Amino acid sequence: MDPFRFIVALGATAVLAAAGANPLAAQTAAPGSLVHWPGEGIERCLVGDRAFAPTVVGGERGCLVPVGLTRTADVIAERDRDGLRERLHIGLGEYPYSVQRLEIKDRSRVDLSPENLARVQRENALIGKLWGRQGKPRFSLPLGAPLERMPAGGRFGAKRIINGEPRSPHTGADYAVPQGTPVLAVEDAVVALAGEFFFSGNAVFLDHGNGLISMYFHLHEVFVEQGDEVSREHRIGTVGSTGRSTGPHLHFGIRWQGERVDPALWLGEPASIATVR
Ligand SMILES: [Zn+2]
Repeated sequence: MDPFRFIVALGATAVLAAAGANPLAAQTAAPGSLVHWPGEGIERCLVGDRAFAPTVVGGERGCLVPVGLTRTADVIAERDRDGLRERLHIGLGEYPYSVQRLEIKDRSRVDLSPENLARVQRENALIGKLWGRQGKPRFSLPLGAPLERMPAGGRFGAKRIINGEPRSPHTGADYAVPQGTPVLAVEDAVVALAGEFFFSGNAVFLDHGNGLISMYFHLHEVFVEQGDEVSREHRIGTVGSTGRSTGPHLHFGIRWQGERVDPALWLGEPASIATVR
């Protein structure tokens, strides 16, 4: 097993449920992980200001609770079931990811000029609107692979030191493959956004409904446009090194209910997702 994945799995294991008026978090889940909370007759799931439909994980329908990568506090999840509101308290675990040191020679992509900073802020505002999208779920786990052959990859969550200075953590998984390698939609979707961005380069954002967005960055070519309907395995573009990138690779990311979570959890066996009963 990839040691990186192993650490993630350990961080999210053994979560204790305590439904009712006195929730108690005896165990924890790592930032960037998921906790599945299955049960019969769930009408909807609630986390923060989000309400969403249950998800089937490993044949069991339940609330798939995101523990966002940048969270700094415990997660309280709720669900409506048989007319009752139930509550789950998930303690926030230690940050389990490694430190990555990078040298980026193009300093203009690290220390931003006022013009570039304004551009990034405009792009972030545009991208930020995607996280609020809802709609009927049109996905099932595990998702398909974004590359026909997946190399070992990852570094999700890595704390980055760029040119010697601490920067924000890595929010997706990187897969180093040659430029021109086809990039595939991981599931049926509508193209929520496709364009050229300062950091992400040529990028595609796919909306799979129910608050699930998949992201594909640094592409060489893009074959889809905003509003297109795509099916699982559709070729949406090719691998490149556009934007802030140190060489050809696919950066693949997932947002679930607006939170950044480890994409490997969505691509791997659903059994690797922590479950609480
Ligand atoms: Zn990346």
